[in-house]
Amino acid sequence: MKRILLLGGVTEALAIARTLGPQHIYSLAGIGRVPTDLRCQVRVGGFGGAEGLAQYIREQGVDLLLDATHPYAAQISQNAATAARLSGIACWALRRPAWQPQPGDDWREVSGWAELIETLKPFRRPLFTLGREPLQHLDEIPAEQFWTLRALDVYPGNERCEVIGARGPFLIDDERALFESRNIDVLISKNSGSSATEPKLEVARERGVPVIVLKRPVLPGVDREFGSVADVLEALSMPGIR
Ligand code: NAP
Repeated sequence: MKRILLLGGVTEALAIARTLGPQHIYSLAGIGRVPTDLRCQVRVGGFGGAEGLAQYIREQGVDLLLDATHPYAAQISQNAATAARLSGIACWALRRPAWQPQPGDDWREVSGWAELIETLKPFRRPLFTLGREPLQHLDEIPAEQFWTLRALDVYPGNERCEVIGARGPFLIDDERALFESRNIDVLISKNSGSSATEPKLEVARERGVPVIVLKRPVLPGVDREFGSVADVLEALSMPGIR
């Protein structure tokens, strides 16, 4: 039986962690909530880069690394692939399929903050759903724009920005009310591929609101890649794995 180190931070990772027994380890960065009702071991905080992760793998006798982190958490995914190679163990990854634009969608893909701000120029009432990054730019908001910024927790805004703290899953009627009450004319989103946050795209489509989509980072190659929790659990149920 293998000892699994599961790297988490998203709902699917928690679903996998719930199936793991006491010899396995579930690792979290420490940004979100830490579950207290799991049978597996839970550890919190960074490892100190790929080298630190490789050392942890050796010390703990881990023999399978499972990367189920967020598709935009590119650093830890890179570290995972490197550490597995350094330690001579396999790295598997759950990679959520990306959302695809549907008929009626007006998506504008951008590669980073500078391109995003350029693309945002014609708009007045953006809704940012990128997490905390826009908080660093509150002093740069043009006079003609008012930003609504949704993050996991609430933070101070300013006279040109309201910050809303909210955690998904989001219901379509609540998203409709948010767009309506703030008169949102453009949505800014990662392509997280999560059903928990997808209703905002449906509302943008209904209202003819364009979506500025931050492109996904390129992630490293791994030994096995899965598109769903069910596929991961099936692979883990194979003889010799656990
Ligand atoms: P990141 O840039 O890829 O990682 C930054 C550092 O955080 C890593 O180098 C590592 O520190 C530590 N880290 C990340 N995930 C870890 C884990 N599962 N266990 C232990 N250490 C971890 O990641 P991020 O974008 O800041 O995201 C942080 C966490 O939040 C990730 O676990 C991710 O799954 C989750 N999350 C991210 C997003 C997003 O949009 N980026 C959204 C929802 C959830 P060391 O180098 O010191 O090991």
